Amino acid sequence: MGGKHFFIIGAGFTGLGAGLTSGFKIFEASDKPGGICASYQKEGFRFEIGADTGFLVEKNIVIYLRTSIKLILSLLQ
Ligand SMILES: Cc1cc2nc3c(=O)[nH]c(=O)nc-3n(C[C@H](O)[C@H](O)[C@H](O)COP(=O)(O)OP(=O)(O)OC[C@H]3O[C@@H](n4cnc5c(N)ncnc54)[C@H](O)[C@@H]3O)c2cc1C
Repeated sequence: MGGKHFFIIGAGFTGLGAGLTSGFKIFEASDKPGGICASYQKEGFRFEIGADTGFLVEKNIVIYLRTSIKLILSLLQ
């Protein structure tokens, strides 16, 4: 993109989605990715902190994200 260097700040849903298609390096402040979209296990139960993270493993969501981000990046060029 015009000889400029790009990188992504934050490995939340937005940063991970952008990085998935662009390949730009992602910088994350915390010790794990996901941002507010996260969950944790306690006493056999899974607690969602933000959005339901279960849908993230669905292949169709990843394909949809990749296609959407490609379209957005092509519009920005
Ligand atoms: C309870 C709840 C339910 C939701 N349900 C839905 C839903 O059903 N459908 C839907 O589409 N959305 C839903 N959302 C919204 C969705 O989860 C968020 O919009 C989305 O996850 C935000 O992602 P993000 O990457 O933009 O931001 P964040 O998840 O906030 O990620 C930002 C990341 O950047 C990092 N960061 C910040 N500053 C720096 C820095 N200076 N250097 C390095 N890293 C930095 C943070 O540590 C963080 O990891 C829900 C949200 C909540 C709270």
